[in-house]
Amino acid sequence: MPENCIFCKIVKGEIPSQKVWEDENFLAFLDINPVQQGHVLLIPKAHSDYIFSMDDKQYAEILNRAKALSEPIRKATGAKRIGLGVEGLSVPHVHIHIIPVNNINDIDPCKGKKASQEELAKIADKIRKEIAAAKL
Ligand code: 5GP
Ligand code: ZN
Repeated sequence: MPENCIFCKIVKGEIPSQKVWEDENFLAFLDINPVQQGHVLLIPKAHSDYIFSMDDKQYAEILNRAKALSEPIRKATGAKRIGLGVEGLSVPHVHIHIIPVNNINDIDPCKGKKASQEELAKIADKIRKEIAAAKL
C-alpha cells in the first residue's frame, strides 16, 4: 500500500469517514466534498490505482456492488436516479463516485463543496438504514 494514500488510511480507520457499507473486499463511505447530498465513494479495500487495470473479476465485483448500493442511496436521498463517475485524478486509489441526480450536470465534479460533519452524519444515517432494509 502506498504510504500516503488517503483511502488506504480510511480503510484502516486512521482517518475518520462516514462509512455506509462494507464487506470483506469493498467499502462505501461519503465523499467529504459532495457534488450532491448523499454522494458516496465505493472503493476496493486493497490498494489499486486504476479501475481499468483491475482484473475482470474484481472489476465486475465493484460494479455489481455499485448496482446493489444504488437503490438504497436513491431512496435515502429521494433522487430521480443514481449516476456513476470514475476519474481518480486527485486520489489514485480506485473509487467509483455514486451520485444521486435529478438534473443534467448534477454529476459535475466541479460542484463539490465541503459538507459539515452534521450534514454528512445525517445523510449517512439515512443511507445506512436503507441499506439495512435492503439486507445488503
Ligand atoms: P477524484 O480522484 O475522482 O477526482 O476524486 C476524489 C474524491 O475524494 C473527491 O471527490 C474528494 O472530495 C474525495 N476525498 C478526498 N479526500 C477525502 C477524505 O479524506 N475523505 C473523504 N471522505 N473523501 C475524500
Ligand atoms: Zn490506497
